[in-house]
Amino acid sequence: MSNIKRERELANREPHELTTDELLELVRMQHTADEIPACRICGETLWIVRSGGGRVWACSGLEDDPENAGRLRRRIGRSEADDHYARSKWEQYRHTDPFVLELAIRYERAMKKDKV
Ligand SMILES: [Zn+2]
Repeated sequence: MSNIKRERELANREPHELTTDELLELVRMQHTADEIPACRICGETLWIVRSGGGRVWACSGLEDDPENAGRLRRRIGRSEADDHYARSKWEQYRHTDPFVLELAIRYERAMKKDKV
């Protein structure tokens, strides 16, 4: 079963129907940040282009400028908000909370110690 299917299967049940292990599994799935994919067009790293209310990532066409240390330049053939930029957009649908994830990990660890 894929992770997404498993997550849906667990999330569709009522919380009281889940075992503690299943609850921890669901909380971990829901609060583990998605891996940001590479640009589907050119394979470069995506940049955050919008945050708040769902983060949006896109291929900006910017790169380090070797002639001006610490500065960026636009790659040859790219322009601001071009078609490449529009087609590369990727939205992070999952709203993760690193504190909840850390709590779940610590709780799981503490439970395992008790069992030994
Ligand atoms: Zn790209």
